[in-house]
Amino acid sequence: MLIRCDLNVPLDGETITDDGRIRASLPTLNQLREAGSKIIVLAHLGRPKGQVNPKYSLAPAAKRLSELLGTKVKLARDVVGESAQQTVAELADGEVAMLENVRYEPGEESKDDAERGALADQYAALGDVFVSDGFGVVHRKQASVYDLASRLPNAAGGLVKAEVDVLRQLTQNPHRPYVVVLGGAKVSDKLAVIKNLITTADTLVVGGGMVFTFLAAQGHEVGKSLLEQDQIETVRGYLDDATAGGKQIVLPTDIIVAPEFKADSPPKVVRAEAIPEDQLGLDIGPESAEAFASVIRSAKTVFWNGPMGVAEWESFSGGTKAIAQALTEVDGLSVVGGGDSAAAVRDLGFPDDAFGHISTGGGASLEYLEGKTLPGLAVLENERH
Ligand code: ADP
Ligand code: MG
Repeated sequence: MLIRCDLNVPLDGETITDDGRIRASLPTLNQLREAGSKIIVLAHLGRPKGQVNPKYSLAPAAKRLSELLGTKVKLARDVVGESAQQTVAELADGEVAMLENVRYEPGEESKDDAERGALADQYAALGDVFVSDGFGVVHRKQASVYDLASRLPNAAGGLVKAEVDVLRQLTQNPHRPYVVVLGGAKVSDKLAVIKNLITTADTLVVGGGMVFTFLAAQGHEVGKSLLEQDQIETVRGYLDDATAGGKQIVLPTDIIVAPEFKADSPPKVVRAEAIPEDQLGLDIGPESAEAFASVIRSAKTVFWNGPMGVAEWESFSGGTKAIAQALTEVDGLSVVGGGDSAAAVRDLGFPDDAFGHISTGGGASLEYLEGKTLPGLAVLENERH
């Protein structure tokens, strides 16, 4: 049986810095092993863009998965070539093998249906059933996510089901107040979600890299901070829509700036409307962190995606830490979504069970909340939406 997992973990060289996604894959894999299946894992790592590149080998993930499962996971040297076929042929019941990074194959992410389909045919020839358990990729129309599902009897795995269950609670009648906290760096991607979120949530709290486009939309200088010039008008529209709809968009009142994008660049707190020309904003300030935390603590439902600042660097992690702490104090459902957000909370020392749910998918969960049809879910026989 073929199973798509999301093992796209952050690496520092060959060291996995957060194995959360691998751990999240374990329950389904263990269940399938106990049932005596021959398991072939399909997964990707990073963006090799259709080319074989050892930098993106799944070797570290296969090694970690072996340790966590307590059994050797054999990694093929290619995706659908001789090594893959031999690895699959040698597999015994209850054993687990992994193909190399599916994104080594140009067909995996191709926009051309026929090209993706041809690769999916090759995947399908390796097994008899398909389990879709890579929640982080279900919003992608890719060969191992979408096309493969239509070629074999299929089912959603336990992780995908659990993730969708939680997100359904956020979209169908959430307990109110429902607060959404957005930050991070994928600014234009995330701005698109806001249109829908301001209709479902009561309050939208904005920090991280995208906040500067909001501050600019209010007519403020943002210095050298991250800015999406061409989104300023759109954001101005969101601010107007929110006011008209009786919703609140909470923005920071102070910002931690530094002269350079560097871990040891000297931090300084300034007013959000007075960011110096030669500085860039790298975190929300302490006053904002306290205000954000207070909004979060009084919510009944919270969804948070995206660090409030460059949380990887100690001097700029205070905002993210304050928000994470507030989420742990919510009397209701708290959900953290996004690879870097999940890594940040673990890095800052919060245990996973301090939150209601830590989603393995940032983009996927945001698109679900946006109300979009996710191709990798829509194609599954038991998960039609
Ligand atoms: P997630 O993976 O949780 O969805 P993103 O990938 O969108 O989050 O963003 C995470 C990245 O955003 C982190 O690497 C962080 O350093 C960066 N970031 C947060 N705030 C800022 C900022 N003010 N300027 C630049 N980068 C930022
Ligand atoms: Mg990210």
